[in-house]
Amino acid sequence: MQMELDGWRLRLIFSAAHVMIGHAKCGRLHGHDYAISVRLEGEPGPDGVIMDFGLIKDIVRGITEELDHKFLVGVNNENVSIKGDVVSVRSGESMYQIPIRDCATLEIEQTTAEEISKWFSKRLRDQLSRFENIESLSVKVEEGVGQGIWHSVDL
Ligand SMILES: [Zn+2]
Repeated sequence: MQMELDGWRLRLIFSAAHVMIGHAKCGRLHGHDYAISVRLEGEPGPDGVIMDFGLIKDIVRGITEELDHKFLVGVNNENVSIKGDVVSVRSGESMYQIPIRDCATLEIEQTTAEEISKWFSKRLRDQLSRFENIESLSVKVEEGVGQGIWHSVDL
């Protein structure tokens, strides 16, 4: 069976700024409204459900809150450095310096929807691994309405 949460309709959303390091247009500071949709594959547990809707929504919202109104930074990129409380991001001719408290520092290279969906899937997997009836999960990161990336992981 499959359980699905629609990010826009359930307001599993966040707003954030980023740069696509090295890209001509998207390498400039800009932002998006993002929505997170989730699918869980599995069979109902002893309580008759794959997972409580309220619980999964709370878990997803908890992760989106880490990203909301932040500057998203992929710290695995060679153009990113952190010194003390300041994150520096070089993109083309531009150097952005942002207080680390205003950043979400992610263990990825680029803050594309592709890489954010992988990052989000892993975070969600860590929190769902205790649910033995769930076999796999998929996360969709939409960057604006109607365009997004699905990523799936097994539990
Ligand atoms: Zn963008």
